[in-house]
Amino acid sequence: MNATPKKLLTEVFGYPEFRGEQQAIIAAALTGSDSLVLMPTGGGKSLCYQIPAMLREGTGLVISPLIALMQDQVTALGELGIEAAFLNSSQSPDERQSVMARLREGELQLLYVAPERLATGHTRSLLSDVPLSIIAIDEAHCVSQWGHDFRHDYLTLGELGSLFPGVPRMAVTATATDRTRKEIVARLELADPDIFVAPFDRPNIAYAVQAKTDPKRQLLKFLQVHRNDAGIIYCLSRKKTESIATWLCQQGFDALPYHAGLATEVRQENQRRFLAEDGLIIVATIAFGMGIDKPDVRFVVHLDLPKSMESYYQETGRAGRDGEAADAWMVYGMQDVVRLRQMLTESDAGDDFKRHEGVKLDALLGWCEGTGCRRRPLLEYFGDALIEDCGNCDGCLAPASTWDATEAARKLLSAVYRTEQRFGAAHLVDVLLGKETDKIRQHGHDRLSVFGIGAGLPASTWRSVARQLIVAGHLRSDAERFGALVLTSTSRAVLRGDTPLRFREDPKGPVATARRSAREQVVAVEDQELWDALRACRQSFANENDVPAYVIFHDKTLHEMLNHRPQTEAELLDISGVGQTKLDRYGEEFLSVLRG
Ligand code: ADP
Ligand code: ZN
Repeated sequence: MNATPKKLLTEVFGYPEFRGEQQAIIAAALTGSDSLVLMPTGGGKSLCYQIPAMLREGTGLVISPLIALMQDQVTALGELGIEAAFLNSSQSPDERQSVMARLREGELQLLYVAPERLATGHTRSLLSDVPLSIIAIDEAHCVSQWGHDFRHDYLTLGELGSLFPGVPRMAVTATATDRTRKEIVARLELADPDIFVAPFDRPNIAYAVQAKTDPKRQLLKFLQVHRNDAGIIYCLSRKKTESIATWLCQQGFDALPYHAGLATEVRQENQRRFLAEDGLIIVATIAFGMGIDKPDVRFVVHLDLPKSMESYYQETGRAGRDGEAADAWMVYGMQDVVRLRQMLTESDAGDDFKRHEGVKLDALLGWCEGTGCRRRPLLEYFGDALIEDCGNCDGCLAPASTWDATEAARKLLSAVYRTEQRFGAAHLVDVLLGKETDKIRQHGHDRLSVFGIGAGLPASTWRSVARQLIVAGHLRSDAERFGALVLTSTSRAVLRGDTPLRFREDPKGPVATARRSAREQVVAVEDQELWDALRACRQSFANENDVPAYVIFHDKTLHEMLNHRPQTEAELLDISGVGQTKLDRYGEEFLSVLRG
């Protein structure tokens, strides 16, 4: 046999080059070493065990916690002409029997198994009768009791080493702090593993954060560059996901809601459509995401603030898994902060937990209000460093200017003080602007010395001052008083004018992520017709085979076709993502589209 990793990469997977450390990881497995592979989502972990599984004698065993992901991978492998199957509880006994028969016959290159199935004596004895090439443990952080995805079944995986001696094991995960990393090695009993840590960064994701002024209008503007793109919009409440989805449909978008309160069938159907269709928007609570492996999600929007940097990074990480440009865009305002604190206060978690979560929320807020590159502090938070500013975030593309906010801060803190620390930002801004509202008259606030002293600045600036005072710790939003702003131990010095403050000016105008925005990079007007035809060709194969469009070809592959206009089979094979099997299955039709 003269196949090499490189040959499989180009001929079967259709990719010209290995990415990052893939080659070294594969080489380690081929020598029989255990390894731990840490790569961000979309980094290309699966190839790392799939290629050794195909090159070594025997069947590659992949332990995977999520049935949906298993099915996805097996479908995608089938499209590449690789013999793969899974064993899990979604199958009938007959289906399982047939998989086991194929396994015994040595027909399977890869077998995906859920961890609980592996714990049964039956599966174990079945597996001990066949040669195994490699054992891959996907989502290996599930073995860690410190993480939030702990799964009890993973604890038994430590026995794999003694059950299948001589078979290299590869633990792969996208999330692992130092502590979790050690725990994975220990609990899985990996033998002197090679450890590969890819950079945490997702350079193709453009980050942008804006103050929430008119969220629907802001969203529409953002979506201008994402017509026909698949995306996820996160909202805090179930009700809001539904109203935003309905409203988006009225605006001519294809959008569906997703939250834990929907009937299971509706939820499953909406998720299925999101995966299968080409340009659908899902409007969801955080209940949506686990197990979403769609590579061509072009944007993730947060219409409400997530609860921590961790959540933010995980949720935005669902964008751009295919490595193509994607946007992570968020709007947030004071109301979000008040609401999240309120939820935290009202939850029945312990005090330690609440304090901890409060600190995490503060870190996120501070990040939102930061000036300069956004990626740098984001990565620093996770212990990764960036040498240069990224050039692909709003902070880099449209640097926020700062202004001397010392006087403004004094005025706002005075207003807090004069109104006895009993009101939220909205009312305080009305007082500063000198508005004659009912509430102001009712409380006699129009008679205060601070009434109207802020008329020189717009309401949006006052809201921004309030947020930044909170971030700087000179004001606190008191959840016990329904979000009333209260003074802190450092407020006095600011009131006296002893603490000079420079605040960030909220950038006006459109979001600054357009430069590398997916749409712009891609299709010129004169190419639109061909692009649509390529997509239609892909969709018809997808419908015919009952698989998501991206299983046929990724966007990236279609873009290359568009740019290089291959006219022959050989030229088509040169396109990244086109291997021999896909050429045989789809080549003719795509070539006829390309020849026009
Ligand atoms: P994850 O690390 O999240 O498991 P995957 O293994 O699903 O990532 O890979 C993400 C995407 O990148 C897949 O669509 C995969 O086909 C693609 N990919 C992986 N390796 C390469 C490569 N060397 N060149 C081009 N694309 C690749
Ligand atoms: Zn940047």
